[in-house]
Amino acid sequence: VIPKKILKSLRVPPGEAVQLADYATDWDFHPELVKLGKDQVREAAGQILAENQTALAEAQERLWASDSWSVLVVLQAMDAAGKDGIIKHVMAGINPQGCQVFSFKVPSAEEVDHNFLWRYMRALPERGRIGIFNRSYYEDVLVVRVHPEILEKQRLPARKFDRKFWEARYDDINRFERHLVRNGTMVLKFFLHISKDEQRRRFIDRLEDPEKHWKFSLGDLAERQHWDAYQEAYQDALNATSTKWAPWYVIPSDLKVTARALVSEVMVSRIERLKLGYPEVSGEVEQRLADALSALRAEAAKGR
Ligand code: ATP
Ligand code: MG
Repeated sequence: VIPKKILKSLRVPPGEAVQLADYATDWDFHPELVKLGKDQVREAAGQILAENQTALAEAQERLWASDSWSVLVVLQAMDAAGKDGIIKHVMAGINPQGCQVFSFKVPSAEEVDHNFLWRYMRALPERGRIGIFNRSYYEDVLVVRVHPEILEKQRLPARKFDRKFWEARYDDINRFERHLVRNGTMVLKFFLHISKDEQRRRFIDRLEDPEKHWKFSLGDLAERQHWDAYQEAYQDALNATSTKWAPWYVIPSDLKVTARALVSEVMVSRIERLKLGYPEVSGEVEQRLADALSALRAEAAKGR
């Protein structure tokens, strides 16, 4: 189990103005971890991840059985930060019936003809399920903020895409998430934070290995040119939308295994806080079940 204070240090405190540069990207983001050293941290993280895979499978069963809450996991990150690996490793072990993953790409013509939250609303997890958004409505204050020309084609009534415009979007998002939480969808938001150097290493790795070429798109290189603008857009979004009901967690992601352990730890500990139990069966029903059991046993005895 990862100490609470470590998890807490990753949470963007609601109502405060943080600097993204103050959040670490590497494994040694906490003094207690520095003491351990990289190899030990790597090993411990692997163990924590394995334990949490089991814990999450159990938590998901209780979620399913109690049928009152759902969990929305929002994953945001720069390219090559490891969103896919998080989904693959953190969710390994979960019953596929109880979870769903949606990946959001450039919106279609039909999608931009609606309000910006429309396509995400349609993909929300129903009660009892864990839903993952691989990219999300946050793209609408991130990529779109870095490239306002995208908005110009969207035929919005707004004429100016100024501070007020973005603040209105943050406000829409906060109220939307508030609505979700009030109605039984827990919202967990993770920003997988990598350094620019680590992104370069991962791109080089993909380009050097022909089996990884499919993972590389030239567009990723173009977006890398806008690194600083993205960091600024992320920082503004995190500050404006880390709320008591839906806080952001900034996950140091230069080392993949610690990132996976941390995300799984937050998920397990937050779902456990819902204190979901298995539904209780009433005394009358218990009696009928006991009767059914005796009847079946009697039938088996006769057949012997
Ligand atoms: P991977 O590259 O690992 O397969 P990915 O999430 O990067 O995963 P891509 O198909 O490469 O998937 O990229 C999706 C693109 O869609 C991203 O560049 C993202 O910025 C863009 N996108 C997502 N949502 C929106 C949006 N609402 N408006 C404009 N662009 C968006
Ligand atoms: Mg991509």
